[in-house]
Amino acid sequence: MMEQYHALKEQAEGCLLFYRMGDFFELFFDDAKRAAAILDIALTARGKDSGEPVPMCGVPVHAAEGYLARLIKAGCRVAIAEQVETPEEAKRRGGYKALVKRDIVRFVTAGTLTEEALLEPRRANMLAAICDVRGTVGLASCDISTGRMVLESCLPGDIPSALARIGASEIIFPDSMDPPGDNAIKRPKGDFGSDDGERRLKQLHAVKTLDAFGDFSREMLAAGGGLVAYLDHVGRGNLPLLLPPELRAGEAQLAMDEATRASLEILTSQQGGRAGSLVAAIDRCVTGAGARQLAEDLAAPLCDQAAISRRLELVEYIYGDPLLRADLRDVLRALPDISRALGRVVAGRGSPRDLGQIRDGLAEARRIKDFLSGKPDQPPLLLSLLPAMGGHGALVDLMQRALVAAPPTERSQGGFIAEGFDAALDELREVSGNARRAIAALEARYRDETGITALKIKHNGVLGYFIEVPAKHADALMAPDSGFTHRQTMAGAVRFNSLTLHEEAGRITEAGGRALAAEEAHFEELIEQVASVREAIATTATALARLDVAAGQAERAAEGSWCKPAIRDDNAITITGGRHPVVESALSATGDRFVANDCTLKNADRLWLIGGPNMGGKSTFLRQNALIVLLAQAGGFVPAERAEIGLVDRLFSRVGASDNLAKGRSTFMVEMVETAAILAQASERSFVILDEVGRGTSTYDGLALAWAVVEAVHETNRCRCLFATHYHELARLAETCDSLSLHHVRAREWKGDLVLLHELAEGPADRSYGLAVARLAGIPKPVVSRAKSVLAKLEKGREETGGLAAGLGDLPLFASVIAEDENDEETTFLSRLQELDIDALSPREALDLLYQLKRDA
Ligand code: ADP
Repeated sequence: MMEQYHALKEQAEGCLLFYRMGDFFELFFDDAKRAAAILDIALTARGKDSGEPVPMCGVPVHAAEGYLARLIKAGCRVAIAEQVETPEEAKRRGGYKALVKRDIVRFVTAGTLTEEALLEPRRANMLAAICDVRGTVGLASCDISTGRMVLESCLPGDIPSALARIGASEIIFPDSMDPPGDNAIKRPKGDFGSDDGERRLKQLHAVKTLDAFGDFSREMLAAGGGLVAYLDHVGRGNLPLLLPPELRAGEAQLAMDEATRASLEILTSQQGGRAGSLVAAIDRCVTGAGARQLAEDLAAPLCDQAAISRRLELVEYIYGDPLLRADLRDVLRALPDISRALGRVVAGRGSPRDLGQIRDGLAEARRIKDFLSGKPDQPPLLLSLLPAMGGHGALVDLMQRALVAAPPTERSQGGFIAEGFDAALDELREVSGNARRAIAALEARYRDETGITALKIKHNGVLGYFIEVPAKHADALMAPDSGFTHRQTMAGAVRFNSLTLHEEAGRITEAGGRALAAEEAHFEELIEQVASVREAIATTATALARLDVAAGQAERAAEGSWCKPAIRDDNAITITGGRHPVVESALSATGDRFVANDCTLKNADRLWLIGGPNMGGKSTFLRQNALIVLLAQAGGFVPAERAEIGLVDRLFSRVGASDNLAKGRSTFMVEMVETAAILAQASERSFVILDEVGRGTSTYDGLALAWAVVEAVHETNRCRCLFATHYHELARLAETCDSLSLHHVRAREWKGDLVLLHELAEGPADRSYGLAVARLAGIPKPVVSRAKSVLAKLEKGREETGGLAAGLGDLPLFASVIAEDENDEETTFLSRLQELDIDALSPREALDLLYQLKRDA
């Protein structure tokens, strides 16, 4: 057995091996130690291997899903080795001692799950493949629980931000490339051939060319091929549902890099969970598919005015009619998760319940369509969704007739095909039903005849049907002419058979077996029918998800008095009464009120420098404006009284010196790397929020850098920007930067206490209130008063020397510095060298020139 185990473990490629033994999956050696620790189950030992006891642990097969879920969550991958023949077959094949054959039937990995119990209903589960082809990178991503597959390409430098957007739970890459992340999984280069990829995809979708789906590049096909090959591998030849690949159009989306996504806490909060994230604060979807679509929308907001407006009009339509909204959400709430049920069906792991869900979902979709069709003034997006929600009439009708109302998950017991669907099946059921009734009657008759009231007819898996009487009455039935034959003697009871019982039981078994076979055949047929129209079903599911997203956004907007943003094709942002959806929710939980603030950025005033005390609300203000832009471009209403958003092409959010030690870089280094990316990438169309950039280093360095960064953003990038800082000295930039204005969050000291108003006002901050904040935070009084006297000394010193920024006002501006640089001595020197015709010089002239150059320098 150990030999077989080791051979399988070899094939498991580093995954934990679940080795099936009877009713258990067993794990051995290091696998056992690791699993026992994660699952908190007993680690035992069994037999010996090379003289050592073998560590072992096991989980019951019927409860395996729950354990699998925990192992996957903990970052494990699992190979499932099943018994692929019965013990009888093994004996027939290899004699009495033959070992049952086992094979790895599939791998369970984070990105390839389809089981309902292992998936979070409101979150897509993505698998991504990347592949480098001559300097460009192909990216394939898919959610195999719904079958959606997207191909795209990017430059090597953009891999992190693309992967951050996709948020895959598993990433694979060819062994010829550098790993794109810590947990990425290496696969053979041979799996990522672009020709092979194209062939695989064509075969999969039974088409001669992929042109109808999109114009895919070599690297996309290579990545797509690698992804399909991997799925084939983990499913051991059983491919899950894959819809035709979609081409992701890069330019039509609002670009955000990894740091921006993390700092805006779009899908997960800094703590790592969904709680506290943007999506958690706005998600009012009533279906899992809707919630997943919303998350996708927020991860990839649009950059196309027309497309955004289409989404907004649908939200507005549902928002404007509260009755329709409530009814619509009620009917949507009843929808089962069609996409995921379909995913399981096509992956070959569908159950009768999944078929029932698809049936009910499609029927419900029709009702929703009928419900909406009669309404006047439908917006264009709704008109384009409605057709996808109809159809499937024949299939739904078939499944309604074929399946019982609530089909079971387990199909081995039968009972899911409805009565009246198949006359032959009904007859078989009738036969076994009659026989069951006959057996019940038989029990009564035997009691009568024998006078033993405790006589019972029972059933178990080993004996089948039998008659049982208490031991003290057994003698009467033991008599040779009693008509009963002895089968088993138990502690207090004796079991018998009789000819009549045997015959009736035989009828049940026979009819039952044939009925099961008939149900199984119908099941296969239904599965086939569903699978043959999987794309149409998936389209229906997508349309319903889109509708749920719009209805949820309308609901959220109504709850919080949000407004429909106007999307414009200019470089302005005008937000009146803007709020931060997450902070506001948190405050309202404690009964506090959120103070709304305005933000108006335009060409002539596109950079706001925001000062004021710590805890005054600077970060909140910065983020709320970024989030409002993001929400608007994702096609939803926004937490404001009024909002006009000039389309943003890239959104950047940076927080000074956040702790990122896990990545092994100093915090200041991270801050600078991230800031460098903005200076390199932000365009006039971009929107940048910078929070206390420069605070990760010494005061002088920090101020100098903050100063230079603001100037560069103002002069070179010319993007819209909110810059929060506690350096008062930066205020002097307003004298030289025309499109920069000064703002601060208001605070007051009242009777020695600091009152933070969280209200934005024009002009520079008067002072920083650092000591007052320290007091608020509970720094002991003596320490605060000592700090006060130190501060007084420092301020006196500042008055005398002119302060930290003394003389900064005389500095020329960033752009003119660059221009001047070009004329400096070094440049002159170099250009003189360049103009020199060395071949025309005599050695004497050359020497003279050298002297002269040295003199000039
Ligand atoms: P800063 O960046 O100036 O240090 P934050 O933006 O982190 O300040 O805000 C500190 C706290 O103040 C927040 O956690 C929130 O509780 C509260 N706050 C911020 N802005 C507002 C606001 N507009 N209305 C009400 N409370 C606010």
